Amino acid sequence: MNIEQSDEIDLLLGRMKAATAPLRTTLREIHDRGRGDHRGEVATYIPELAKANPDWFGICIVTAKGDIFEVGDVQQTFSIQSVSKPFLFGLALEDHGLDAVLRKVGVEPTGEAFNAIVLDEVSNRPFNPMVNAGAIATADLIAGTDYPDRLSRMLAMFGRYVGREVHVDNKVFLSERITGHRNRAIGHLMRNFGMVGDRFEESLELYFQQCSLLVTCRDLAMMGATLANGGVNPQTRERALDARYVKYLQSVMLSCGMYDSAGEWAFRVGLPAKSGVSGGIVAVVPGKLGIGVFSPRLDSRGNSVRGVAVCTELSERFGLHAFESGVPLESLEQQLDHRGRR
Ligand code: GLU
Repeated sequence: MNIEQSDEIDLLLGRMKAATAPLRTTLREIHDRGRGDHRGEVATYIPELAKANPDWFGICIVTAKGDIFEVGDVQQTFSIQSVSKPFLFGLALEDHGLDAVLRKVGVEPTGEAFNAIVLDEVSNRPFNPMVNAGAIATADLIAGTDYPDRLSRMLAMFGRYVGREVHVDNKVFLSERITGHRNRAIGHLMRNFGMVGDRFEESLELYFQQCSLLVTCRDLAMMGATLANGGVNPQTRERALDARYVKYLQSVMLSCGMYDSAGEWAFRVGLPAKSGVSGGIVAVVPGKLGIGVFSPRLDSRGNSVRGVAVCTELSERFGLHAFESGVPLESLEQQLDHRGRR
């Protein structure tokens, strides 16, 4: 991180603190209000998910400098589910480079459900890495000498993002595996079109494992902060993602990360984000913050009701929308001029 970025984070934090008193108080107030919202349903299509306590609710913000602000059930573990998808996409990009990955998975938003058995009619590719088809094609790209090696490379990658060793919840994994007929059907369809290779059944296992990883709300915020910090975990200082690929993860999150309300999310909240069926959301304020929210009740589009409300409020209250007209042209010109002369 350079000095200008560091100053910008301080400015934003200053703005957040000045908006109401300290940021923690603001988070507590948002959390208190959110607790009264009981709309939505916990996902039940995978039996283990149905066991979640619908009242769990955590909010965590980690800055790109590693400061943590949090409230509620931030240490409660849950399976990461689809929030894992952009991060696997990052590992596939590191393993093969952009062109090779884009031959197997597109980056177009789709109006179809996340688990639709559908591929692009012209290219035969899955539409994007955030729907199941694209995520399975992405898992198929993860390199390794054999299956255990691929699995441990994936776990090591998540470990770098969260700053500790991560584990798979075996019950969730088995639950995913036993009920995963649709995902297997997607895998076979893609095998038919050559979008996945001979080892695709192992790749399906890898996909079930990635969905079953145990994380906390704080972990999600740390993962977001790592992206905000150009791919480097702000606490451990370890690089989790090659800097070249950070923008690709975030742009696909912005356009495709929030299931069938990705368009409305980009419009209202304006932040790269990904949600999952267990009720987690990770959002990124590029260069500044990672936001993690966890609350299992989902809306009809599959996103956490409280999670969406929290991110919408944070974005509006603190002007976090990517297209907020924050920087006056004059100061931009000054910066460009200054850089030009160096
Ligand atoms: N494990 C899920 C599935 O493939 C992913 C769910 C999600 O979208 O979070 O069905």
